[in-house]
Amino acid sequence: MLYHSTNNPSHRVDLKEAILRSLPPDNGLYMPDSLPVLGDDFWKSWRQQSFTETGIAVANAFFGEDVPSQALADIVEGTLTFDAPLVTLAPGDHVLELFHGPTLAFKDFGARFMARLMAWLTRGDDRMLTVLVATSGDTGGAVASAFHNVPGTRVVILYPKGKVSGLQEKQLTALGGNITALEIDGSFDDCQTLVKSAFLDRDLSESLNLTSANSINLARLVPQSFYYIQAARQLPDGVKPVFVVPSGNFGNLTAGLLAVNLGLPVDHFIAATNLNDVVPEFLRTGHYVTRPSMATISNAMDVGAPSNFTRMSALFKGSWESMKANISGISFTDDQTRAAIREVKALYDYEIDPHGAVGWLAARAWRAEHPCSSTVTLETAHPAKFPDVMNEELGPDAVEIPERLAVLADREKVAIQLGTDPAVFHEWLRSM
Ligand SMILES: *Cc1c(COP(=O)(O)O)cnc(C)c1O
Repeated sequence: MLYHSTNNPSHRVDLKEAILRSLPPDNGLYMPDSLPVLGDDFWKSWRQQSFTETGIAVANAFFGEDVPSQALADIVEGTLTFDAPLVTLAPGDHVLELFHGPTLAFKDFGARFMARLMAWLTRGDDRMLTVLVATSGDTGGAVASAFHNVPGTRVVILYPKGKVSGLQEKQLTALGGNITALEIDGSFDDCQTLVKSAFLDRDLSESLNLTSANSINLARLVPQSFYYIQAARQLPDGVKPVFVVPSGNFGNLTAGLLAVNLGLPVDHFIAATNLNDVVPEFLRTGHYVTRPSMATISNAMDVGAPSNFTRMSALFKGSWESMKANISGISFTDDQTRAAIREVKALYDYEIDPHGAVGWLAARAWRAEHPCSSTVTLETAHPAKFPDVMNEELGPDAVEIPERLAVLADREKVAIQLGTDPAVFHEWLRSM
């Protein structure tokens, strides 16, 4: 399979380049030349299949021309070491828990698959693959955990000093082994600028065999389509889900669209956002206007220029009408989100995190107008990741901290302190 840039269909690369390079030089996004479809054989028996079997079938549809099926099966099995259970709050009101992975957010699915696929793509190379990633919190933890102890790889994470939560920092700095954390005396933007500067230095980038793990990498998107099928399987036969996706960069929603292309019956999608509502506004008006992001309590969705929008648009061949026919958008304020966290607890004794709460509000609004529909709200993170908001709304210690997060508190933080001077950073990379 070849992959082309959304900006230039004649710029085509193979799988290894699309995954290791992540971004085409023209700043478009890579898309497969033909979109995979799962055949009748799969759809005849899909409801009886396990999560892993579904994952293997989807991975084969995307990557089967380039990666042997045994290798793909190993990659999927290594990725899916935890489940994605569907919880029913009330008839027609379902929540898909995507936080059972090691770092308690859905990003574990994508990061774990990408780490294993990258390791396979570089298996014959005698050079170590160096993954550079800048993080404002969650992505770095998922990437660090995913690559930890993966042979032939090492990860360098840049994070802004004093600007990530205590537990998030431990997720980045306490793993050791092939994971190195750089605590940058600056902002998240400074971290991103440093990462970019390393990629722009051809010589450095070549000699260190640098790659990036950002969220527009196709290898992170494809495994996210697995759990849309897994969710639909857990509904009664014949019920077509309305998927409600709390969105920021719109990778998760794009993965849902890939699942529809594969043949999954879906009633509708809802793009649920906080006040950063560029996409809901586009769906309403047909005008796409990016703007600087605003800080909210669902901070993983604070995105003013969603990086996967180009891909979504490409999937609808640029047609606003057809996107609008398949996706509705709606946004909510922090006050509404806080009220939803309290309400879900009061009604169902369920602790929903601020991102899931935005989704739940969107699902409720949809069901009010479509009473017979079954909504599946993607619960993108475990509420224990957001202790401040949860304690403010539900009282102290309202959310039990899972063991895998709690153990981090006692681990030692190891980070190298650096400033924002690219020359010093490059020097450090060369000497690593
Ligand atoms: C990253 C993230 C999102 C947004 O997902 P996109 O794929 O960027 O739209 C939503 N919720 C949580 C908890 C996240 O970490």
